[in-house]
Amino acid sequence: MDYAQFLARRVGGKVQKIAIDAGMSCPNRDSTLGWGGCTYCDNRAFNPPYCNPSLTVTQQLEVGKRFFAGKYPEMRYLAYFQAYTATHAAFSRLRCLYDEAMAVDDVVGLVIATRPDCVTDELLDYLQVVGRSRLVIVELGVETAHDRSLLMVNRCHDWATSQAAINRVAARHITVGVHLILGLPGESDEDMCQTVKQISKLPVNLVKFHQLQVLKHTELARQVERGEVDVRHWNASQYAALCARLATYLRDDIVVERWVAQAPPHMVITPRWGIKPAQFQQILNSLMIDK
Ligand code: SF4
Repeated sequence: MDYAQFLARRVGGKVQKIAIDAGMSCPNRDSTLGWGGCTYCDNRAFNPPYCNPSLTVTQQLEVGKRFFAGKYPEMRYLAYFQAYTATHAAFSRLRCLYDEAMAVDDVVGLVIATRPDCVTDELLDYLQVVGRSRLVIVELGVETAHDRSLLMVNRCHDWATSQAAINRVAARHITVGVHLILGLPGESDEDMCQTVKQISKLPVNLVKFHQLQVLKHTELARQVERGEVDVRHWNASQYAALCARLATYLRDDIVVERWVAQAPPHMVITPRWGIKPAQFQQILNSLMIDK
């Protein structure tokens, strides 16, 4: 089953995520946990251009709906709280934001992107209740199962925290998505296989993979420039071969939302493959047997 089929089954029809920037920061940037953020992070790389934190949640959703409705008039929507750490605020504020999103016409659920150390019991209890009538996906930035890699990229959380968060979300019958980065500094193919094997033992529903991208003006770019960190120099076919191998270790019921990310080309130092996700998927499909 692919991601579109997964959503269609859960929601009962065609559904599109609309990204929202609710103006939150990240505890790894504002000193709650650390300064400077993860070494590879530049949120502008994945925030769509229609996201504008100066607009209300409702306004952002309406802009997003206009953007997509021309293509599919029957479309329904998931409010995707994506930017930075979308649970990094007082619960009372989070509840207002999420409730506002769900009051917008044709919004049938929530997707909330966050860190494994930013999901309080109070929040999860609320999402459990919401999940009885709407689709709720909590997307956790796990990235890897290896603590040395998490330390190297300054994630400021460890694998044990990720495991605990996955279990706590799943215990509330909330759909669990995890985000994994392939090609973190120092990680071998075997390390990445180990991560996928570990994920497959946990109550995970969705996985988003992406290749580590060295983005301009990030700490990672400076580390690479200074020769302090080495990153993979792989082409799309080599990366696809790894993905095909990882797929064999992924539990059959886990749905892969995507295998590759695409930051705006002008922001990327490496890898610069110059292909669209659909073209990458074709390469991958040619390598995969039955995943
Ligand atoms: S990747 Fe996520 S957790 Fe890391 S600094 Fe960026 S927003 Fe924060």
